[in-house]
Amino acid sequence: MAARRGLIIVYTGDGKGKTSAALGAAMRALGHGWKVLVIQFFKGDWPVVYGELELAKRLYPQFEVLQLGRGFVKIMGDKKPFDEHVEAAKAALQLTRERMLSGQYDVIILDEVNYALGYLDFKLIELEDVLQLLRDKPPQMHIILTGRNAHPQVLEMADLVTEMKDVKHPMKKGIPAQQGIDY
Ligand code: ATP
Ligand code: MG
Repeated sequence: MAARRGLIIVYTGDGKGKTSAALGAAMRALGHGWKVLVIQFFKGDWPVVYGELELAKRLYPQFEVLQLGRGFVKIMGDKKPFDEHVEAAKAALQLTRERMLSGQYDVIILDEVNYALGYLDFKLIELEDVLQLLRDKPPQMHIILTGRNAHPQVLEMADLVTEMKDVKHPMKKGIPAQQGIDY
């Protein structure tokens, strides 16, 4: 068996499947008995029961999902002060750092972190803090970063980058988000 080398993986692009791909990788890792942590940077304030969160309750502590965001930022009726989103995202990144350096995880997934970096939009966290996190990654640990508009410097540090391309999406026909597929 080849030696294990922890990868930096990025799922980006405007098509659906970024978080799903990361959770697919988590499923494989869990199957090997590995320990997986998911930090979600935006989810956290939306009245929806996420399948991954329910599964994590059953698989804890092997699988843990922390929704540390404050929900949608500046869309979907968001009325929270922008600073509240910034504080939440910064705290999420700090917690990620502490958990990562504890060395107890095999895979850490930073869900929507690319978006929080605000390469083309609003910015909640600093690029340098994320790059430093990647530099300090334990060599055996895999880290997966998801979200649209990944920053070019993050892509440069990555070992694997996949861009989801939007070909068709049911939302365009007015079909709303579906349980088991979208959440
Ligand atoms: P998923 O979590 O389903 O794998 P994703 O992580 O690739 O999707 P996000 O950018 O995180 O997508 O978007 C979150 C939500 O927006 C998902 O419920 C998803 O179905 C929806 N979505 C993703 N891509 C598109 C698209 N191209 N058009 C409309 N809605 C989309
Ligand atoms: Mg996503």
